Amino acid sequence: MSAPRSRPASLPVAPRAAWEPALTHAVAEVERAEAALHLARGTEAAVVEAAADAAARAVRLAEGEIDRRPPPAPIACAAGCPHCCHAKVIVFAPEALRLAAHLRATLAPAALDALRGRVAETDARTRGTSRDDRAELRIACPLLDPSGACGAHAVRPLHCIGWTSLDVAACERSLAGGAGTPSAPVYAPQYELANAVMAGLAKACFEAGLDGAPLELVAALRIALDRPTAGERWLARLPVFSQARDAEIGARLG
Ligand code: SF4
Repeated sequence: MSAPRSRPASLPVAPRAAWEPALTHAVAEVERAEAALHLARGTEAAVVEAAADAAARAVRLAEGEIDRRPPPAPIACAAGCPHCCHAKVIVFAPEALRLAAHLRATLAPAALDALRGRVAETDARTRGTSRDDRAELRIACPLLDPSGACGAHAVRPLHCIGWTSLDVAACERSLAGGAGTPSAPVYAPQYELANAVMAGLAKACFEAGLDGAPLELVAALRIALDRPTAGERWLARLPVFSQARDAEIGARLG
């Protein structure tokens, strides 16, 4: 693990005028209300639907913003470009359960076993690491396939939906440079809107008495894949994802 280094004070995002706090607050509130309706049904299928609706909302809102306020440079992200998929990703429990349900439903048994092995191996190397540590370690997300594309693109986390680079060369520099190297410029509205949806989803979980703590993707996915009853246990308010809680982000959210 690397020694802590200072990070840039803020992300070098596109002009801040492209989004407003009042808008993101309203988005979080809509997400909270919609997710609460799903969670009140108390089934794992409803939890997965809550995560799916949240992701669809984040994509829809971002597409609307791109139409209304195009980014200052073309979005550089494309299938097979894996640079940002070496960073720490934060998810909430419904997203981890949705990912696991999708992978169980779509992968053949041998492929699912192989993925579980990759997830366990990655988790053993990344558990408890900070964002700076991950920048130094450069360990790929276990969902990244050999072509460099996301193997779970259709169900990727909100955190991943929100990250859009406007400069692929800056992504390359950021990955090569490690901790302390500035991130690539992103399309700010998509980043902020996805974060607002995440905030609303987390709030709905907390208000329902469920664990809405930020979780590290690999650790949470390992739990969701290894424990077929993880969803049931989460709905029963048991601390099934406690080992995946991300202390770094949790401390920042307070
Ligand atoms: S879930 Fe997909 S998009 Fe997100 S970091 Fe992993 S491979 Fe990349």
